[in-house]
Amino acid sequence: MTAPLTATVTEPLNTGTNSPVYSLRFLGTGSGGNLSVGAAAAVLEQAGQPLLLIDCGPGTLNAFAHHYDGLPSAVFITHAHMDHIADLEILTVRARLSGAAAIALFVPVALIPVLHQRLATYPGSMAEGDHDFWQSFQLRPVSDHFTLSGDTFRLYPTRHHAPGSSHALHLPGSFFYTGDTRPVPELLHHLCQASDVIFHDCGVTPNPSHTGLDDLTREYRDDIRSRLILYHYADAAAADTLIQAGYRVARPGDVFRLGTPLHV
Ligand SMILES: [Zn+2]
Repeated sequence: MTAPLTATVTEPLNTGTNSPVYSLRFLGTGSGGNLSVGAAAAVLEQAGQPLLLIDCGPGTLNAFAHHYDGLPSAVFITHAHMDHIADLEILTVRARLSGAAAIALFVPVALIPVLHQRLATYPGSMAEGDHDFWQSFQLRPVSDHFTLSGDTFRLYPTRHHAPGSSHALHLPGSFFYTGDTRPVPELLHHLCQASDVIFHDCGVTPNPSHTGLDDLTREYRDDIRSRLILYHYADAAAADTLIQAGYRVARPGDVFRLGTPLHV
């Protein structure tokens, strides 16, 4: 399913004296149970061009194609739930057919076996034959950080199902992207830089794997809550409820300008 794309909204959140070169565009902002606002995925842009796709669930590639030419050149996977990885199967085939260069696929080390089991073990993955899932990718196993385009991205395990199975992505000075998670005050209160834009999992109702509205006031300081941009909610009505509670939300197609990385 392709995410319904709203008009692009640029929100100048973090403009310093240096013109920011990074922005984050959401391709989808929904939870896996209801894809009416697309599977949660975002593109880190550098000067408006796609640098890194964060997650690749069902419909992500069609939403990507709506905004950019070609295929993503680099992908980071936060975790291996299908609403975050399903389109990797489509991506490996499209890359093969287009003759694209191998796509850098940054994967937390612990996720590599489950990613292989879920996507790379299907026999005869292309009718043309002689193709396996990994052929289109350059696998880049990640422990706690990786470097791309001269900047260092940091990973932190979050609280989403099994310990160590889901990860936040942090580019200090620019953004903190929680991925799917319960609240993580131990990360946001201690690791965020003042200029980080914080993109946070949040639906209306909490559950054992995701953050809900009531969690935010209980778990986070006011200064952190005022900087949150919420995503991974059920549908457009849920987004409206989050807004009525005083939060900003990301909607499919929205673009958020980011500050310059700090190289801390
Ligand atoms: Zn998940």
